[in-house]
Amino acid sequence: MTDRRIVIATTNRGKLAEYRLLIRGREFVTVSDLIPGGVTVVEDGETFEANALKKAREVSRATGMIALADDSGLEVDLLGGLPGVRSARFAHEDATDEENNNELVQRLRRSGGETKQFPARFRAVLALVDPSDLEGGTTASGTCEGFVIATPRGTGGFGYDPLFIPEGYDKTLAELDLNEKNKISHRAKAVWALKKLIA
Ligand code: IMP
Repeated sequence: MTDRRIVIATTNRGKLAEYRLLIRGREFVTVSDLIPGGVTVVEDGETFEANALKKAREVSRATGMIALADDSGLEVDLLGGLPGVRSARFAHEDATDEENNNELVQRLRRSGGETKQFPARFRAVLALVDPSDLEGGTTASGTCEGFVIATPRGTGGFGYDPLFIPEGYDKTLAELDLNEKNKISHRAKAVWALKKLIA
């Protein structure tokens, strides 16, 4: 019989903390709970959707379980949508969050943005893949509109959170409580959309 638990195809601690609050009523495990060292997936897709599906399919194949993956990132209008699908690797291939944030700060400052706020959004695409249909899968997406700033604020969250102010707020995501972020985030909206699709 197929294991009905869901395996979450991410090692990102920030994402996992959010999923623990966003997904209730369904038992889930992480890839590294099942496979020491995890499953390495090369994120070479041109779109969030392609990368999310690739991650979910490879993890479902490796574990024989239903897999949930997300590919997400920040799109800054001033930078033509960058860092986009390259959000995790903006500064260089193995960049840390801090290096990626510094790269963004430098680019905003070069544009005279020391004190300005620049329109941007977070986008997440989730993919859910069943091991009985490894070529298929269901996807859903969500966005969180807002602004990026060139001076980081706050210590919560992960990734670009200290540089992102959601629309209608005066705090960065890193200054908001996680429960508050989960009411408005791209990832939360994508989870709700996916739940509707599979209900
Ligand atoms: P992925 O693992 O390829 O989806 O990488 C997503 C990258 O986008 C992360 O490393 C973060 O830099 C950024 N990102 C995605 N979602 C968030 C978020 O909710 N807050 C801050 N940064 C995020």
